[in-house]
Amino acid sequence: MLKSQTFFGRCLMSDYIILVKQVPDVSQITDNAFDPETGTLVRTRLASVINELDTQALAFANYMKKISGDGDGKIIALTMGPPMAEEILRYSLSRCADKVVLLTDRALGGADTVATANPLAFAVRKIVKEILNNDNDYYVVTGMQSVDGDTAQVPPQMAEELGLPCITYVTDAEFKNNRFEFTRIISGGSQVVAARNPPAIITVAKYEYPLFATFAKTRWANETEVIRWASADIKATHIGVSGSKTSVIRVFPPGKSTRKCRQLSDVKSLAKALVESFKSGNGESGQGADDQRSRYVLPGRRASLLDRSFEGTKKEQEDYEFLADKLKELSITESSRINDAIKEKILTASRERFHKKALEDMINGFKLTEPTFKGEVWVVAEHSDGVVHPATFELVGKARNLADSLETKVGVCLAGYQVEPMTKELIAAGADNIYVIDDKLLDVFDPTAHRKAVADAIRTYWPQIVLYAATPQGRMLAPMVSYRVGCGLTADCTGLDIRDGSRTGLIGILLQTRPALGGNVMATIRTKNSKSQMATARPGVMKRIPPDPSRKGKVIKHKVELSEDDVSLEIIKTELGTGDVNFNAEVIVSGGKGMQSRDNYELLVDLLCAALSKKLDTRIERGASRAAVEQGFTERAHQVGQTGTSIGPKLYVALGISGAIQHMIGVANTETIIAINSDPNAPIFKQCDYYIVGTVEDTVPQLVEALEES
Ligand SMILES: Cc1cc2nc3c(=O)[nH]c(=O)nc-3n(C[C@H](O)[C@H](O)[C@H](O)COP(=O)(O)OP(=O)(O)OC[C@H]3O[C@@H](n4cnc5c(N)ncnc54)[C@H](O)[C@@H]3O)c2cc1C
Repeated sequence: MLKSQTFFGRCLMSDYIILVKQVPDVSQITDNAFDPETGTLVRTRLASVINELDTQALAFANYMKKISGDGDGKIIALTMGPPMAEEILRYSLSRCADKVVLLTDRALGGADTVATANPLAFAVRKIVKEILNNDNDYYVVTGMQSVDGDTAQVPPQMAEELGLPCITYVTDAEFKNNRFEFTRIISGGSQVVAARNPPAIITVAKYEYPLFATFAKTRWANETEVIRWASADIKATHIGVSGSKTSVIRVFPPGKSTRKCRQLSDVKSLAKALVESFKSGNGESGQGADDQRSRYVLPGRRASLLDRSFEGTKKEQEDYEFLADKLKELSITESSRINDAIKEKILTASRERFHKKALEDMINGFKLTEPTFKGEVWVVAEHSDGVVHPATFELVGKARNLADSLETKVGVCLAGYQVEPMTKELIAAGADNIYVIDDKLLDVFDPTAHRKAVADAIRTYWPQIVLYAATPQGRMLAPMVSYRVGCGLTADCTGLDIRDGSRTGLIGILLQTRPALGGNVMATIRTKNSKSQMATARPGVMKRIPPDPSRKGKVIKHKVELSEDDVSLEIIKTELGTGDVNFNAEVIVSGGKGMQSRDNYELLVDLLCAALSKKLDTRIERGASRAAVEQGFTERAHQVGQTGTSIGPKLYVALGISGAIQHMIGVANTETIIAINSDPNAPIFKQCDYYIVGTVEDTVPQLVEALEES
């Protein structure tokens, strides 16, 4: 069919713009990649490769082109990066791209996700205008996230800039009724959706059919022109450091795992470890990453206005400590008494620890008592079928701590249809005000309708902090909302603290700490150039506070004008786990893709469950990884993890599970984790307490025997 042919007035054949990114190769980290003094990973010491998920996006776009039967659709790869990023464009050409565009300019460097999404969106506009001749039938396809940032924020932020629907975490596509239907991962299951009105942005979570380059294609790729655009060519509005809305204030090595990570050489020792761990129980959950330092107190509430013990970085903290000691020696108790002579004395004593200007700034910092941001601390609630997502309750608990420190209220933004019955539980969990946006068009989660509703409420009330759960839904909604209201956003935080930056005039700001570079470094980030500080937080890390049904709160109705045009997706099918699964059991035995078959899963998991139940005299439940569920080894209700159930048993036994972050998030609160895996380098071995290297087929029956004999 020719590209110009239409069906019901719309062109049927699409073009594809693939976003690719050059990233450090975190799969090949050697010891010399770390700075010996700070222990921090030095990015430049790693080789650069194409982001693995972007190679899958390329193959996925090629697959979309194939199933649509369109031989004429163009595939254009786009990247923003240094001149050497040309390499990954040649890679793209050698696989399936017809044309490639390199957006390269020093002015674009140092960008956060806003200042990345914005120029990329402007480049997409230019591609559509100049290369696709204003043909608006296209899809932007990209990996769900890049391995260096792990934020997954750029595609939804681009969607917001371009006014397009965004379909995230896609795993499959079908071409039916002259349109694409996408299967995507959602909390609790999967969903088939179509964009009501393409163009659309698609992010690929998994597509395991790689493309290979032929000799002829590689040669052609090396000879083909790379189109180069600089910042001035695209006229973006937010670029580089100045266009960014967050800044990294500290990078540090991740803390040592609280897990034992002990390899056992035989099943007898494993049986012993299983029984002893269950019986003794360490009583603690493994993660506890959000271990808040001492609880923040506003400067005006401290014993002295010269007390600056809540500075955000170690250096600032030490500088203020030094200054406080000197002032004490000089018997100064008020900043108004610090005259030029005193300053001179301090500078001399400091032996160039700080210069005059820095000292002046620190002294000015003493005058500040009011928080830099004003307003409530908000949580955007996630819910389905009238049930609030557990991660929302965890965030309300965290928001309560933050709001108490800042002496403000906790608000929850609850958008949906007939949602008021949920308000009671949210108030009991720690909320003061529930902002209810009730509309039939919000009945099921649609990213554009929901982002319009939530953004409208934020613009009306301007909370100082907005927290979202880092679930697939939250990681899609938060970037759209934050971009829409012009605020910075930090993804997937594992630590949230209130601190000061008195020297730079910042009081009571939110410090957002998160893993980056595949968990090899931690970064603490703050929001800038924004009216509100926003973050998504990893489920299972923040602590829910015990519900208090006697708490009182207010329900505030907020009306937002919505129409059918605000709904971007047609939901064709939703598959959610159902069934009677008791994840409150003390022991959970889970099987992963390594179980190889449903028969194996049923045989081996049941065998071990029966042996453990007899030995430990407790109820045991069966769990599974998402991959095992997708393979049909067991039902969806048994899935453990980010999009399954988060569990916290005394004992978790993982059979043939690799240890992907989305799985491990769900078991973070387990007391003891035991793993059996045939791969000696399985990532789960660095995140468990005891493990044995071996196949499940051999090890599980031997372990059962050892349990019976012990
Ligand atoms: C948005 C999103 C949400 C997600 N949510 C979840 C979630 O909630 N839960 C979840 O689990 N995943 C989730 N995933 C998927 C996750 O990224 C991984 O793909 C998944 O956890 C892998 O499952 P697995 O470990 O069983 O399979 P694999 O990663 O394929 O690992 C199989 C393991 O089995 C081992 N093995 C193979 N054969 C044997 C044998 N004979 N004996 C012993 N070991 C063997 C291998 O060495 C390997 O380590 C999500 C992904 C995305 C993108």
